[in-house]
Amino acid sequence: MDSWLIFSTSSNKTMENHVVFIALGSNIGDRARALNEASELMPPDIIPVSFSKVYETPPWGYEDQPPFLNQVIKARTHLSPPALLKRLKEIEQKLGRKPIFRYGPRLIDLDILFFDDLEYKSEKLTIPHPEIDNRAFVLVPLMEIAPNYIHPVCHKKIVDLAAHVEVDSIIEFRGDNEQ
Ligand code: ADP
Ligand code: MG
Repeated sequence: MDSWLIFSTSSNKTMENHVVFIALGSNIGDRARALNEASELMPPDIIPVSFSKVYETPPWGYEDQPPFLNQVIKARTHLSPPALLKRLKEIEQKLGRKPIFRYGPRLIDLDILFFDDLEYKSEKLTIPHPEIDNRAFVLVPLMEIAPNYIHPVCHKKIVDLAAHVEVDSIIEFRGDNEQ
């Protein structure tokens, strides 16, 4: 058994049936297409089960860059957290993401938000993603597909976390031609 499992606070989860939430973001090129392709490129060991709508959101962290499209996907997987991150990085690379400065513009960004109720920390990976609580562009799509999901560290529901962030600038995206 993988050593990471010892960090799980849950005893009744099987290795084959993890529920994970993945955040997708893009702010360069054909952003909607990048999100679609990222979903389509999910390998057979990552099975999406629900998708939030796509939202257009102002840049965060470094503000002098184009607006993002953001989406959250709920998926099932038997992969371990590091293996899941590796698969997501492979998708980012297939879609042509080049390394750039942190919070800078990107063709596609795939982050692991939650992995069951696991708390996991290594040099390369922190789960739950440490910025969930203050990122409206994550909380709004997450609230759409998992409003009652309880954050395993702060033990608050997503809907309650979302009540504490500014959500007015997170707009449902209906396509570039209709704006
Ligand atoms: P950003 O923080 O803006 O998503 P990157 O996508 O460039 O920036 O991620 C930088 C690094 O963050 C990744 O290479 C990965 O090792 C690390 N990381 C830590 N925790 C996570 C997580 N929960 N999901 C995805 N990447 C993570
Ligand atoms: Mg990332």
